[in-house]
Amino acid sequence: MPIQQQSFDVIIVGGGGAGLRAALQLSQANKRVAVISKVFPTRSHTVSAQGGINAALGNTDGRDDWRWHMYDTIVGSDYLGDQDAIEYMCQHAPEAVYELEHMGMPFSRNQQGKIYQRAFGGQTQDFGGDLVHRTCAAADRTGHALLHTLYQQNIKSKTIFFSEWYAVDLIQDEQQNVTGVLAIDIASGTLGVFSAQATVLATGGAGQIFYTTTNAYTNTGDGLGMVLRANLPLQDMEMWQFHPTGVLGAGVLITEAARGEGGYLINNKNERYMERYAPHLKDLSCRDVVSRCSMIEIREGRGVGSEGDHVLLKLDHLDAKVLNEKLPGIVALAKTFAGVDPSKEPIPVTPTCHYMMGGIPTDRFGQVVKLNAQGEDECVRGLYAAGECASVSVHGANRLGANSLLDIVVFGRSVGVAIISSLEQNKQQASPITEAQIEAASQRILRLRKTQEGEQVAHLRTVMQKIMQEHFGVFRTEEVMAEGLVQLKAVYQRVGHTKLSDTSQTFNTELIEALELENLILVAMASAELALARQESRGAHARIDFPNRDDENWFKHSLYYIDGKQGQRPVNMRPSMVDPFPLKERKY
Ligand SMILES: Cc1cc2nc3c(=O)[nH]c(=O)nc-3n(C[C@H](O)[C@H](O)[C@H](O)COP(=O)(O)OP(=O)(O)OC[C@H]3O[C@@H](n4cnc5c(N)ncnc54)[C@H](O)[C@@H]3O)c2cc1C
Repeated sequence: MPIQQQSFDVIIVGGGGAGLRAALQLSQANKRVAVISKVFPTRSHTVSAQGGINAALGNTDGRDDWRWHMYDTIVGSDYLGDQDAIEYMCQHAPEAVYELEHMGMPFSRNQQGKIYQRAFGGQTQDFGGDLVHRTCAAADRTGHALLHTLYQQNIKSKTIFFSEWYAVDLIQDEQQNVTGVLAIDIASGTLGVFSAQATVLATGGAGQIFYTTTNAYTNTGDGLGMVLRANLPLQDMEMWQFHPTGVLGAGVLITEAARGEGGYLINNKNERYMERYAPHLKDLSCRDVVSRCSMIEIREGRGVGSEGDHVLLKLDHLDAKVLNEKLPGIVALAKTFAGVDPSKEPIPVTPTCHYMMGGIPTDRFGQVVKLNAQGEDECVRGLYAAGECASVSVHGANRLGANSLLDIVVFGRSVGVAIISSLEQNKQQASPITEAQIEAASQRILRLRKTQEGEQVAHLRTVMQKIMQEHFGVFRTEEVMAEGLVQLKAVYQRVGHTKLSDTSQTFNTELIEALELENLILVAMASAELALARQESRGAHARIDFPNRDDENWFKHSLYYIDGKQGQRPVNMRPSMVDPFPLKERKY
């Protein structure tokens, strides 16, 4: 079978916000950069981000400070976020947002013509004081505006795109350095070897490990699977965010902006229950907190509907102008997916898998790290990661709403900057890729193309998703998780024996789904094993059997390797401009 070989300065796997921001930095510096994306770039999941992007601009309140933003992010992360990286992100947020504005991103405007900013969960003034309006928005379609702006800028700066190419595996030399990737052109079935001095993984999230999720079908954790198979670790994979307001049944997201604009949650007694749990920030407490409260309402019999399995998001008291101008997308989604007109009746919602806080461990320049023999961080040469697939870690155990669009542009850019300086220091070409390395990277495709007998991909995926949903949801216990893990291990074995019913060479989406499933199951295993191991409650990881945070034993990142081995890394408490924020109890 013919294999195309091409070489670039930099390869970026992923055409979402993180990949495109990194590509822009590099192509503007005249580097030859190729973006490989399994979907057309503007169809990446970033396009569906609704609520906004955080930056301490103070346009609504007249005052804000990046240090307050830093504090909120650290507290929101339940102290598992790395303080050097959080400092860098919050400090650079205003610059990142103005940069997008100057590129032409169509933000909504306030009365003074400045960028419109709304309230979002867990965001305060004066280190935990009153709510602040920090979330910059383009109505409720901020990701759409952002992604299209970045795509247009990349076209202008001549980034080379390989759309609808699927990256299969990393190519490594004997020292584990990454020298490129193997990919497949979905349309023709042709394999391509892409070599470069630097490879960036920007493959986004993996919410498809759960049965009900706000994530796109394409969020299958491919970059994470590639990293595990390269014998490198993943970090904090037990930390999955459940968003409080997924549409019942469909999982489609109703943005937190709906509560930022004045909406609130009610139970079957029409009670605004968040006032009881979090008297200070109420419905705008952090997402992990609100999701847990909704689940308690449902469990204690105050859920809505004949099965008492959901709560309601009330928006009908809001001014029609707010709904039409600030939340037009939500109005349309509620009508389509819940059959409800939110100006007249509340929307049925339930906590839904939304975001992966863990991922590929990197330093704050986006360089992928592994532990050396002494247990210290060591950079993997040639490999970078940015965006939702990376664990820098700015979100720790729980992400603040509207901090991910920020993460992807700030760290997309910083990966670009780091690669430019590394290319300038080291003019050596990457070592040539050998036949044996190509063969190693093609193994999975060869197996799938040859196998005659085996199980169906779609069926196994559903089995895995249901296990994750039932055993590793909002509340966790040893017993339920251990049982889930046994079932998951059985699915893992079966995934090694899938068979394709479509044997065609061209546009074989079943082949792609089979490859995706092999990544999903690895991500699910990492999440399950680490969730079972972490015997405490922190951020999104809520254990009924260990209800408290245990800083003595668990104030650390957890690592997982493909052979099941686990490890740990310390949390970075060394910001450079301010004193570290010491650990304290989280209260909203
Ligand atoms: C419904 C929804 C609403 C959200 N709203 C907000 C919000 O308002 N504010 C906020 O801050 N965050 C929000 N988030 C989170 C945020 O949008 C995402 O975390 C972020 O956009 C991820 O960007 P990314 O570039 O890392 O990945 P993505 O945008 O998911 O892009 C991943 C890219 O990788 C490519 N890819 C993946 N695997 C392969 C492969 N094997 N080969 C080739 N290409 C591959 C895909 O084609 C795609 O181009 C929201 C998320 C969801 C799901």
